Amino acid sequence: MALADILARVRAAEAAAGRSTGSVTLIAVSKVQPPERVEAVLEQGHRVFGENYVQEAAGKWPAWRDRFGKVDLHMIGPLQTNKAKVAVDLFDAIHTLDRPSLAQKLANLGQARGALPQLFVQVNTGAEPQKAGVLPGDLPGFLRDCRSMDLAPVGLMCIPPEGEDATPHFAMLARLAADHGLSGLSMGMSGDFETAIAHGATHVRVGSAIFGARAYPQT
Ligand SMILES: *Cc1c(COP(=O)(O)O)cnc(C)c1O
Repeated sequence: MALADILARVRAAEAAAGRSTGSVTLIAVSKVQPPERVEAVLEQGHRVFGENYVQEAAGKWPAWRDRFGKVDLHMIGPLQTNKAKVAVDLFDAIHTLDRPSLAQKLANLGQARGALPQLFVQVNTGAEPQKAGVLPGDLPGFLRDCRSMDLAPVGLMCIPPEGEDATPHFAMLARLAADHGLSGLSMGMSGDFETAIAHGATHVRVGSAIFGARAYPQT
């Protein structure tokens, strides 16, 4: 079973890094996967999933939550401000807080509801022009802005540039988090989650290694 294999590798990577068992959360990234694959993983008892699209997630998770009970849902895709309200109602964590307008929107929603999902700030560690995320140099100011709005991000998230060694990006994200007293580190995907765990990842986002290749390519 792919889930069991990946979980075993997560536990082994924790041990190899001298970290305690269970210190890393495995987020099973189920975007655009056929429902039967997701249900198979739910039936094996896994309860932490990641999605990229608010609409897709809102269309499938309420029924699965009715059927399987409490599921921790993590939003890991770019979040449009006009979808923030639906996202806040659906997700337990948002990994893609990446700009002041979204921070303001979430702050307003938090005031109205009294609570918000856990927030991770996405950092564009490779400073790629096409990629979302706060530039490393802008992070201190962005975190100050968040705190002035009463938002309390718990960690940082990154998606390293494709086709590059992810190691320096994981190291940079870990250093930035430590600099700012943030304990959460969302980093590592199917191809590199063990490296990410060695560098301190607390949340790894693994899709294809658990579910198989996605039906169509994601941007
Ligand atoms: C799709 C996606 C993943 C999972 O990618 P895999 O390579 O299938 O493990 C992880 N993180 C983000 C942000 C994604 O969009």
